[in-house]
Amino acid sequence: MFSERINRLSGSLIREILAAAQRPEVISFAGGLPAAEKLPDFDWSAMPKSLAQYGMSEGEPALRAKLAEHVSALGLPCSADQVLVVTGSQQTLDLAAKLFVDPGTPVLVEGPTFLAALQVFRLFGADCLGVPLTANGIDVAALEAQLKARKPAFAYLIPTFQNPSGARYDDATRDAVAALLDEYNVPSLEDDPYRDLSFDGVAAAPICSRLKKAPWIYTGTLSKTLAPGLRDAFLVASPELFPYFVKLKQAADLHSCRYAQWQAEQWLGTPKLAEHVAGLIGFYRERRDAMQCSLERHFADLADWSTPEGGLFFWLRLKRDVDTRQLLPLALAEDVAFMPGEPFFPDPDDGIGHLRLNFSHAPAGRIEEGIKRLAAILRAAGA
Ligand code: PMP
Repeated sequence: MFSERINRLSGSLIREILAAAQRPEVISFAGGLPAAEKLPDFDWSAMPKSLAQYGMSEGEPALRAKLAEHVSALGLPCSADQVLVVTGSQQTLDLAAKLFVDPGTPVLVEGPTFLAALQVFRLFGADCLGVPLTANGIDVAALEAQLKARKPAFAYLIPTFQNPSGARYDDATRDAVAALLDEYNVPSLEDDPYRDLSFDGVAAAPICSRLKKAPWIYTGTLSKTLAPGLRDAFLVASPELFPYFVKLKQAADLHSCRYAQWQAEQWLGTPKLAEHVAGLIGFYRERRDAMQCSLERHFADLADWSTPEGGLFFWLRLKRDVDTRQLLPLALAEDVAFMPGEPFFPDPDDGIGHLRLNFSHAPAGRIEEGIKRLAAILRAAGA
């Protein structure tokens, strides 16, 4: 009855966990949700009625112009006609998979990587090849070995406050990765949702800005800085790829919601947004620090981790190889939720003993209680 592809569609573990974590008594470190109390109040009163009409597939011209300025300012010079407004940066991943992936197509990803990227690339039949991360970003030698062994259709990279690991590629790693992608002429798909949530200064320029000839797609979102429910996001692509994305967007949903685009345009590039993001950073930094203190108190003998310098997650490596998927039902029974590490890896066995903790959602007071409960569950399970 269905397509052959549908058999490859895995349920998203995170959505199932988020559903379980909806109960108000659950202390959730599971999702990547912004703090509810920090969602802005939106004023829709001046929205033109004409936006109820169909719009352009590329997006609203005024928003595209502002997005081009925004992306240029972070070190990737581009013009408005290279910008495509998409419905969540998740849509960029879907369109890229449609452009590049047939059953069996190799796609290079970081190990670990964004869960939903694995899900969508695999839906189209991708063979996801994981390259490990180091403290400075992707392992460059392993990347080169992988490019030599099997050339991927594209490389999916999250170089700034990576989800789930929080890793940030340093400048030298960004340059080395760009040089390799140029040398092997492999298109890059750079996903950059967390760049603006940096606790100590401006993040390094995107890898795409360092390429000399390989094709590229850069995608960003307002989900983490404004509101995920708006689904306001964008991609910028090199000239040989851009027209394909416009056609794919047309085929997918014709254009993104014009109301949400109008709202984004009211904020982007304004002092109002700059102030809002500065407030968010201060607020999340406090929660990051609260989780760091609680982890030091309760996890020092259980796990190793680095303090994230931005983004929304702690990534823990347990000292013992425990399958954290099996701990999840125990944690949920104690009203605390986390993300097991295994599903973030192309080969789940590589993720044994890892877990991801979101620090943006739970209030600081509940972070201590949640971390304490989690440590007790791990100890009881022999971790
Ligand atoms: N990429 C990464 C790495 C993410 O963590 C997320 C959100 N969790 C997304 C993309 C999707 O963001 P959006 O809301 O724009 O679809």
